[in-house]
Amino acid sequence: MTTVTHPAPDRVVVIGAGMVGLSTAWFLQEHGVQVTVLERTGVAAGSSWGNAGWLTPGVATPLPEPAVLRYGLRAALSPSSPVYVPPSVKPALLRFLTGFVRHSTSKAWRTAMGHLVPLNDLSLESFDRLARGGVPADTRDAGSFLAAYRTEAERKTLLEEIQHIHAAGQTVEFEALTGDQARTIEPHLSHEIGAAILLKGQRFLDPGRYVHALAESVSDRGGTIMDDVTVSRLRDVGSAVVVSTADGSVEQFDGAVIATGAWLGELARPFGVRNVVQAGRGYSFSVAIDQVPESPLYFPAQRVACTPIGDRLRIAGMMEFREPEAALDRRRVEAIADAARPLLHGIDVADRQDEWVGSRPCTVDGLPLIGATKSPRVYVAGGHGMWGITHGPVTGRLLAQMMVTGKHPEHIRPFDPLRRN
Ligand SMILES: Cc1cc2nc3c(=O)[nH]c(=O)nc-3n(C[C@H](O)[C@H](O)[C@H](O)COP(=O)(O)OP(=O)(O)OC[C@H]3O[C@@H](n4cnc5c(N)ncnc54)[C@H](O)[C@@H]3O)c2cc1C
Repeated sequence: MTTVTHPAPDRVVVIGAGMVGLSTAWFLQEHGVQVTVLERTGVAAGSSWGNAGWLTPGVATPLPEPAVLRYGLRAALSPSSPVYVPPSVKPALLRFLTGFVRHSTSKAWRTAMGHLVPLNDLSLESFDRLARGGVPADTRDAGSFLAAYRTEAERKTLLEEIQHIHAAGQTVEFEALTGDQARTIEPHLSHEIGAAILLKGQRFLDPGRYVHALAESVSDRGGTIMDDVTVSRLRDVGSAVVVSTADGSVEQFDGAVIATGAWLGELARPFGVRNVVQAGRGYSFSVAIDQVPESPLYFPAQRVACTPIGDRLRIAGMMEFREPEAALDRRRVEAIADAARPLLHGIDVADRQDEWVGSRPCTVDGLPLIGATKSPRVYVAGGHGMWGITHGPVTGRLLAQMMVTGKHPEHIRPFDPLRRN
């Protein structure tokens, strides 16, 4: 832990009311900081709503890896493929893809995984701190979390990945099962499933509900959350940060945290953050199911994630590298439904509700951006890609500690927002 001479801020503005921004606001409050959260739309309006809600530190790995690259290059241009890149690539996306390809080596994956392990190790206990602090929402144990495959050959990829995860120092307990053993645990798996992996020690939640509960707790503890406020500019004026909003209002704070998800670059770039944050858009919808499973189900070969949310099953998937504002593309929803249909019994994928698209904030090296910028008053928290729900609370906890004490926890050093890629 290194110490920086630093006046602790009394009043901090957090921009973005997703999992990451609200977790940071909550943990800042633990240190007695007065927080204001400014949100362009509403709480959980970004990717923190319709995602799969898995809290799976055992398999929270960096996205760039040789297998994703091999798969992605083959499939990227087809609208029904789980990884999609538009045929005409704009310069910012090209920069992202070039960097992503550069980091998709086994060596880079091992380095990045090594950096994620300490974050993974603290992730679930950070949720427990939120629970003890009164956040009125639960996380649930995923006792029978199954990754299911048609064949044993398909399963080899995850078994090998688990070996690499172990080699990087991450614990994940698992059991390899036959299709019949998996069906005994989860009868909704169809007879097409011939092999599975039971992952142990993971959890899940209803992300939209959870993030709203977090917002409620931040407000109850004296924080201010303002919806429909777009922050257009931040300025460090030496003794304070001046925040300008699109409607022309201006206010000063002691510090600012940019937690704007896939839009992070817009406000952070003037503060020396050159890392591209690219929207990796994913889709989800919910279906009725005769009996809601106890735990999530994962079909890795199809890249389809299923999570029990309330009395329905949420089905999520796709990685579409394009601008976050683009409209929902119905072909992707159909592609996920087509992939899930033969693998599950007891659901009617034609009877869909809650169709949603959201943007994973992806970085080229698969690591988040957490820490100070070139301004000692402006901080960044984001770029968690596929794992911002799992890693949101631990990010808020470590960043708040850094901002208030001036001590730089070793755990977040590799996530320096000013790193060069
Ligand atoms: C299909 C899918 C499945 C996923 N499944 C999982 C999973 O199972 N587990 C997991 O850990 N992660 C998962 N993720 C990833 C996770 O959803 C994200 O990493 C996480 O939600 C990012 O949170 P965030 O707070 O950084 O961003 P967001 O939730 O996007 O929040 C950013 C907020 O900033 C606001 N904003 C932007 N610009 C401005 C501005 N200028 N002024 C004011 N406000 C602004 C936005 O409106 C938004 O509300 C999934 C994502 C997808 C798409």
